[in-house]
Amino acid sequence: MLTTEEIRSRAKALMPGLTEDLKDLVSHASCSFPGYPEEPVHDMRRASMELLEKHGAEVRELDLGEGKPAIYGDMPGPEGAPTVLLYAHYDVQPAPVEAGWDTDPWKAELKNGRLYGRGAADDKSGVIIHAGTLGVFQGDLPVNLRILIEGEEETVSHIGPYVDAHPELFQADTYVIADMGNPAAGVPAVTTTLRGNVVVVVKVSALHHPAHSGLFGGAAPDALLALIKILSTLHDDAGDTIVPGLAKFEWSGSEMDPDAFREAAGMVDGAELIGSGTVGARLWSRPAASVIGIDAPTVKDAANVVIPEAAAKISMRIPPGADSENEVGLLIEHLKNVAPWGVHIEVEKIRVGYPFAAKMDGPAVKAAMEAMAAAYETDAGFMGSGGSIPLVARLQGISPNAEVILWGAEDVAQAKIHASNESVELNEIERLIIAQALTLQTLGGQS
Ligand SMILES: [Zn+2]
Repeated sequence: MLTTEEIRSRAKALMPGLTEDLKDLVSHASCSFPGYPEEPVHDMRRASMELLEKHGAEVRELDLGEGKPAIYGDMPGPEGAPTVLLYAHYDVQPAPVEAGWDTDPWKAELKNGRLYGRGAADDKSGVIIHAGTLGVFQGDLPVNLRILIEGEEETVSHIGPYVDAHPELFQADTYVIADMGNPAAGVPAVTTTLRGNVVVVVKVSALHHPAHSGLFGGAAPDALLALIKILSTLHDDAGDTIVPGLAKFEWSGSEMDPDAFREAAGMVDGAELIGSGTVGARLWSRPAASVIGIDAPTVKDAANVVIPEAAAKISMRIPPGADSENEVGLLIEHLKNVAPWGVHIEVEKIRVGYPFAAKMDGPAVKAAMEAMAAAYETDAGFMGSGGSIPLVARLQGISPNAEVILWGAEDVAQAKIHASNESVELNEIERLIIAQALTLQTLGGQS
């Protein structure tokens, strides 16, 4: 058994090396989206494997049959000890320069204790936290440890069906998902709920061809206008999503400070929060539809015509406790019901991701809360996450009695994951390594 102080000092000693490793990981533009260069994704995977091996992991590539391989490891601990699976992902979101980066997204820069770059937080910090945790134990693991680092979390993922086909590789007593973040750096919280995400594309067709707006406008139905009318029915004036029948729940966990939220979201002066209720309720326990893309003539190419066809992509977050398949059905039915003027409407289901709610009264979550309190030297709380990790529901499916610990270094206040100027606070990584190592040791000690 290591003492808390030993774990603390080992984590501290590992940090300079891990910081250099994280800089190296950020340099690989590992975006797995279709059409992006594949070589940096493969380089990132190899770099992650080397890093994990350097800290004592035995890992291999997992060929999923399709898509980018995952990294997998299965390392025995003491006889009879529980099995813990550590999860992170090595792919990242794209980082278009026009999104307004202050630095090169693929060249990590350290400023005021934070490392900036695409993926520095989401989720290369998770890879580093797992490597650091292994480094603390120096080969003397307190539990049977499995590692899964996926390469397609941000895009069309192939890991889900693979998990279903090979459950024996992924079964565990506890899953530790390092792909989350505290409300703010230094404010510890274990995430207990995740929203699901459903995505549909709605296509409207009104005419067989564009029609001159002088000759036909005013009487011929316009597809873009019809689409706008359809989309306008998704929310009420306050901004709450009001598709009939959608489930919503009360929120009783931690709250988010509205001003910190404004700042983190980058809201312009005078803009108001949308929806109603507490910020926590809006983010974590209610449905939220967004229109994330529209196909229509661009302003630059706009001609004076009545538009024959238009389409929109709608992404809707589903609160924990709701059935995503049911909710997407309600959305599709609603879109069809509100289509005006007899225009033709087609709705294609693109994605159905399920929400998640953790068991909160088990020994692993209790150990995690205590470990966080020790690592941060202040009490830890519970929070929800607006994000979605479809794999979590799948893992719960193959190990129904397992507990799931969701945490990470992607602090909501400043990390700006998926946006420009993403960053991670190095102290958060260090504290998460301490918390993770303490948790594994506690779980091992209970066997
Ligand atoms: Zn992530």
